[in-house]
Amino acid sequence: MGERIRLHNMVLHTRVLGPGTRAAIWTQGCERRCPGCMSPSSRPLDGGYWVDVDLIMKELSGLGDLEGVTISGGEPFLQIRPLHSLLCALRRETKLGIILYTGYTMEELRSMDQPQVADIITGLADLIIDGPYLDQLNDGTALKGSGNQGVNFITDRYLPFQALYQQKKREIEIIAAKGEMFLIGVPAKDTLEEWQRIFPPF
Ligand code: SF4
Repeated sequence: MGERIRLHNMVLHTRVLGPGTRAAIWTQGCERRCPGCMSPSSRPLDGGYWVDVDLIMKELSGLGDLEGVTISGGEPFLQIRPLHSLLCALRRETKLGIILYTGYTMEELRSMDQPQVADIITGLADLIIDGPYLDQLNDGTALKGSGNQGVNFITDRYLPFQALYQQKKREIEIIAAKGEMFLIGVPAKDTLEEWQRIFPPF
């Protein structure tokens, strides 16, 4: 049986999670409790749903119009084995760029001394946004939650887009799927507060 990963959500097209049109995958489960977390429902370790990595690959390979995939959470590194399998399959079977968000800092990831983590931070991912969300450092910069988070260009694929990650502009998309409304992207603080007022987190 193939590797399975626990997901919070997946969408096949978004334009607000990095350069170009991207698929977005949110893993389920995060042990942090960042005040102001924009996605508390992605935190329970037993929430979300299981998906075969092969099935994710099947869905992504059928799409000809994507620049890449953005993987966020939850905390993707909590599921290191299936995460690694997914990224290896993306590299092996597609030309998609890979952007990864994590609450760990690069320093913490380096010190884990785990081969699969090492693979990811030395080239399996093209760009890693690292570090926990710190509400008091939310400065409105595009595509990341707070100023302490780093934008780490692991390969040169996204170097031409450095300016995108310095803009003081936040963009979101709202989609309806599976009978629910989802907010995609890194929202401005007041947008998130308004969203959570209308759709209170549990
Ligand atoms: S790391 Fe992300 S998902 Fe986890 S609590 Fe912090 S903001 Fe929420």
